[in-house]
Amino acid sequence: MPELPEVEVTRRGIEPSLAGRLITQVAVREARLRWPIAGAVGALAGHRVHGVRRRGKYLLLECDSGTLIIHLGMSGSLRVLPAGTPPGKHEHFDLVLGDRLLRLRDPRRFGAVLWTDAAPESHPLLAGLGVEPLSREFNARRLYALTRGKRVAIKQLIMDSRRIVGVGNIYASESLFGARIHPATRAARLSLARCAQLVAAVKQTLRAAIRAGGSSLRDFVRSDGRPGYFQYRYKVYARAGRACPLCGTTVRRTVQGQRATYFCPNCQRR
Ligand SMILES: [Zn+2]
Repeated sequence: MPELPEVEVTRRGIEPSLAGRLITQVAVREARLRWPIAGAVGALAGHRVHGVRRRGKYLLLECDSGTLIIHLGMSGSLRVLPAGTPPGKHEHFDLVLGDRLLRLRDPRRFGAVLWTDAAPESHPLLAGLGVEPLSREFNARRLYALTRGKRVAIKQLIMDSRRIVGVGNIYASESLFGARIHPATRAARLSLARCAQLVAAVKQTLRAAIRAGGSSLRDFVRSDGRPGYFQYRYKVYARAGRACPLCGTTVRRTVQGQRATYFCPNCQRR
């Protein structure tokens, strides 16, 4: 499923083709996504797109009179194509902007295309979201405060979008390896110094993934149709039974909160 790096790669890929352009037509071929595509979207022709922001894994297309909120769900992807390109299977939604169009492909239909004319941050889906991991607000003190009194495993805490947005399973495993923290460590046990290491590792992991164009698992392709390459750089994720790139110890797989967790038992001791 697309995680924060894939969504940010998408944002960077589509924004130059959209910003400042007029929406000339909207095509909804299948409205039944995770939630039905908002009816207001049909009336967007004649509106201008000013920019594309991201909040967590939501893309926010800022238009004249409100914001189009797009979520890629489990298998969604967005591409910019020449106007008139015939739609293929699973290509449910187009925003046509003169000579080009933004097309949503979503085979599993867990994505969403929603509309708000209020501040998008106050939309019910976005209002409860935690801190952005790549922002200045995500720092050692913030993570330290978030972990106080929490008996939950640190991996589950950093994956909780009400506390920190967009750190999914892959990037949580990789970040904890980067910080040499065992994924089952109780959150409350982390010192401020360990929080600083983990914050740095989360930012570094996400930035490296964005630079690599994200991870192409299942259906993710970048907005230019090319795959991302970060999956070839995993150090522990999906590498059970293989050697840790730092010490050669065999990488282990466990299950935490129904999600697979990968770690090096030597580099990441409890
Ligand atoms: Zn190791």
